Amino acid sequence: MLPWVVRRTRLPLLSLRCVDCRSESATTGEGRFRVNANGKLLDVWLLVRCVSCDRTSKLTVHERAPVRSFDPAELDGYHTSDPELVASTLLDPLLARRNRFTLDWEGAWRLDTPSAWLDEAWPVQVEVAFEDPVPVRPERLIAQGLGFSRNEVLRRIKCDIPLRRPTSARFTFTVMAGD
Ligand SMILES: [Zn+2]
Repeated sequence: MLPWVVRRTRLPLLSLRCVDCRSESATTGEGRFRVNANGKLLDVWLLVRCVSCDRTSKLTVHERAPVRSFDPAELDGYHTSDPELVASTLLDPLLARRNRFTLDWEGAWRLDTPSAWLDEAWPVQVEVAFEDPVPVRPERLIAQGLGFSRNEVLRRIKCDIPLRRPTSARFTFTVMAGD
């Protein structure tokens, strides 16, 4: 079984409409949280910036949450804008749903494949793992990873999941010998 890994190379952009310039792309940049304490309640936001006009907006991460409900390490991460916490917050589907944006993964990920796969005996089994939740179309990913045309993918690949539907869950496929 050959291991393929999909991983991000940077944080994805956000498809989020700017209220000022109507651009539909925003970035977290380096990644910064804003924390506001109100008595024993905390608001936490993730700051994002319009890529066209630089307008900053706030995405709600926590709203009026009791201070004691936070893990101290997590709280510290919000105060210091810990890069890992920025990433896990941005990639949490709940944040996207709550703040009505989608992630734009264009150019923000790569596929790592072992190079020596041709030494294997046919048919070859490949397992695709996702280190980050990048939605990929299996058909396109396989074509890219093997240098196959779309027709070759359809002819030589056996796979239990639909090849055209984007997924970010681990899957395996089998490459059959060529003619
Ligand atoms: Zn803007």
